[in-house]
Amino acid sequence: KKFVYLFREGQASMRDLLGGKGANLAEMTNIGLPVPPGFTITTEACNDYYALGRNLPEGLWEQIGPALGDIEKATGKKFGDKDNPLLVSVRSGAKFSMPGMMDTILNLGLNDETVEGLAASTQNARFAYDSYRRFIQMFGDVVLEVEHHEFERILEEAKEKQNVNYDSELTAESLKGVVEGYKRLIQRRTGSPFPLDPMKQLEQAILAVFRSWNNDRAIIYRRINSIPDNIGTAVNVQSMVFGNMGNDSGTGVAFTRNPSTGERALYGEYLMNAQGEDVVAGIRTPQPIKSLEDENKAIYAQFVETSNSLEAHYRDMQDIEFTIERGRLYILQTRNGKRTAPAAIRVAVELCREGVISKEEAIARIEPGQLDQLLHRRMDSEAKLEVIAKGLPASPGAASGKIIFDADEAERLGHTGEKVLLVRTETTPDDIHGILAAQGILTSRGGMTSHAAVVARHMGKPAVCGCEALRIDYAHNTVTIDGVTYPEGTLFSIDGTTGRVIKGAVPMIDPELSEEFKELLGWADEIRTLKVLANADNPRDAQKARDFGAQGIGLCRTEHMFMDPARIPIVQEMILAQTLPEREVALAKLLPMQEEDFYGILKVMAGFPVTIRLLDPPLHEFLPNVEELVVDITKLKLQGGHEEELNEKEALLRKVRALSEMNPMLGHRGCRLGITFPEIYAMQARAIFQAAARLVKEGYEIYPEVMIPLVIHVKELAKLRKVTEEAAQTVMAEQSVTFSYTIGTMIEVPRAALTADEVATAADFFSFGTNDLTQTTLGFSRDDAEGKFLPAYLEQNILEHNPFAVLDRIGVGKLMKMGVQLGREANPGLKVGICGEHGGDPSSIEFCHQIGLNYVSCSPFRVPIACLAAAQAAI
Ligand code: ADP
Ligand code: MG
Ligand code: MG
Repeated sequence: KKFVYLFREGQASMRDLLGGKGANLAEMTNIGLPVPPGFTITTEACNDYYALGRNLPEGLWEQIGPALGDIEKATGKKFGDKDNPLLVSVRSGAKFSMPGMMDTILNLGLNDETVEGLAASTQNARFAYDSYRRFIQMFGDVVLEVEHHEFERILEEAKEKQNVNYDSELTAESLKGVVEGYKRLIQRRTGSPFPLDPMKQLEQAILAVFRSWNNDRAIIYRRINSIPDNIGTAVNVQSMVFGNMGNDSGTGVAFTRNPSTGERALYGEYLMNAQGEDVVAGIRTPQPIKSLEDENKAIYAQFVETSNSLEAHYRDMQDIEFTIERGRLYILQTRNGKRTAPAAIRVAVELCREGVISKEEAIARIEPGQLDQLLHRRMDSEAKLEVIAKGLPASPGAASGKIIFDADEAERLGHTGEKVLLVRTETTPDDIHGILAAQGILTSRGGMTSHAAVVARHMGKPAVCGCEALRIDYAHNTVTIDGVTYPEGTLFSIDGTTGRVIKGAVPMIDPELSEEFKELLGWADEIRTLKVLANADNPRDAQKARDFGAQGIGLCRTEHMFMDPARIPIVQEMILAQTLPEREVALAKLLPMQEEDFYGILKVMAGFPVTIRLLDPPLHEFLPNVEELVVDITKLKLQGGHEEELNEKEALLRKVRALSEMNPMLGHRGCRLGITFPEIYAMQARAIFQAAARLVKEGYEIYPEVMIPLVIHVKELAKLRKVTEEAAQTVMAEQSVTFSYTIGTMIEVPRAALTADEVATAADFFSFGTNDLTQTTLGFSRDDAEGKFLPAYLEQNILEHNPFAVLDRIGVGKLMKMGVQLGREANPGLKVGICGEHGGDPSSIEFCHQIGLNYVSCSPFRVPIACLAAAQAAI
């Protein structure tokens, strides 16, 4: 097996075998850049090493000798030679960059003899002993596992003795003393002398790099970044160049563009008379790369040229490590630089404008999930913060406000213009008005897809959920965190992007789409075939959605309109009505209100479809809960003399009890309400069409689409379609106008997907309600699953992802595929989309594209992300 590749034998595409660093060193060598010669030991060798119980694979060592010989020839130096010694670095480098996670050793090959040769041949004893002490320190730390700080102490003592601040000021004499001190330390700690045979040093260093693949830091880094554990690291052995040879030498790191803003300008730092990690280690304050121009014009010009050619070659922003040895530039590493979201966008767009990459490539380079941070208000990252707890980053963005533990109170204060944070153990649909009025939501229970999280993301409000350190005392209106009790009204901030909970206010920055971002979205629009719509229930959200580029509304939930505190009494009257005439009285009061709702939304979305879902949740969600009523009734009884009120409350209690269900999710809801109370749906349809009629008269182009939820059987849909059509005809006749509309259904129960061919005969469109479809297909109740057993399913790898966040393609997806196919066979003109949470998830969007949906619908704040993901799916 070939375990060893000279740099000139490799190329950039060999990352799997040579690691990222090795592959790029090879590539740079072959395009003629000044790379010190060297070779790479493959990742396979590392894997074999582990397979053999941590032993060097057979045949490896035999390949190293000739490779070393090759370097010797190229450099004219000899490894271990006492007059003109070759020194090498031994560097780790896996397929994926893991900066600083594994180990590197510099100046290997030095011993008591070669150091003298180095001093003589360079006529620089100070430099030779500086290199030697660095080598012993790194070798001692990495290979012999002697604590780093023990070396540092010896170095400190030498500086004190010589009375200088920086190690670059130590004389050769002082450094000799340090070397002796280091050697004694190693003898003391390991019981053996420091190894002086360069071949032994090399062997041990290579083994140490293999070993470092499994040090704790590396393991944790891989876990966080989902890098597999079994791909191993390569080892690069490279002849040394020296940045510590004096003031015409140095070392540095630079990005070809600014990694936080994306601006096209060299961004980096360097230090003269320094080596390796000195720049990062903060031993001396490094200089900005720009001042290299003053220091050495020629070198700077060469570096600019090299970095330009590297960027042009890799066609992406590069992160480059370089060393200058006596006025000569060497490149020691290059890789695609890590960057923030704004930088990622700017770099991609500008590279495309510069003609380096295509629009498709520019789009493919952006991680849609990363854009989240750009679309929400966020903290000024420079600010100093007092972090008091951490929870799950449930909805990105930052918010500050007075902490309030009750939704009604949050709403009351919110309406007076106070900024509040709603703090609850968890939220329910009853809290929606409080959430609406709050700047952000903080809960002590619940996961990333808990009610609070979902609602918050939908509204674009920051949320931190599952913050277990919170102890909320509703009785006294306080929250206790780590033993400190904060009363209601205390100013807190939350950072929904990181999950931090902060005491006090923090300065905020507003989100806005940069010019580059808008341009990129324009390109995405040219490429994508999926339309992107938004879920919105009011004109404000609808407007926001339009601003972000939504092509209509894919889900307008009417129940949120019923939750309005001014309307709740009328809604309750409707629910409590004993007879149809009674109910119609209440419905007649709701009709003009609903008409206004739809008027506003259809108007904002003129020119685009607006899909309005008729009433969906179980009715008890609009009624007070049993405990509250019982308390009220008991109070009234004790006080006496409130006959009428008491009777009313008792009637209400009876009704609430009657409506309560074992399993509301599978209970009397969705179109089952329309089947039992068609007058409710008839009123809603009438309100939609009255709004439509008005808008048509006013000259607006509107496209109302009426959506019937939770259908399981074509007959349900056919019946409710008739109710809707009758309403349309009545309104058209009354107002003598015509308007177009469509009627469709949600597919959110397996039976609807399985009988999609039948259902499609009564539908103009399907919209997959994948939240419920996931619940009903898996038989998971979402709120119970996420809190109780889903974590175990993920941990034990039974499920790969939370199926409520990332669409379960294999199961739920199969039903969707079937639904699309059967539906279109029966009704070729059928429009099909998705309106569940998954409509904003990039991986789920890719799947929607693959199975041929016409559109996805997501929260207004995710529209740009969805547009980009849709374009990526189409590339
Ligand atoms: P990391 O992966 O942690 O960045 P590297 O292998 O890149 O580790 O080594 C760190 C630093 O050591 C490099 O940035 C460079 O400054 C220095 N270095 C590595 N090899 C050499 C060499 N052959 N000559 C001079 N300096 C080197
Ligand atoms: Mg490096
Ligand atoms: Mg549903």
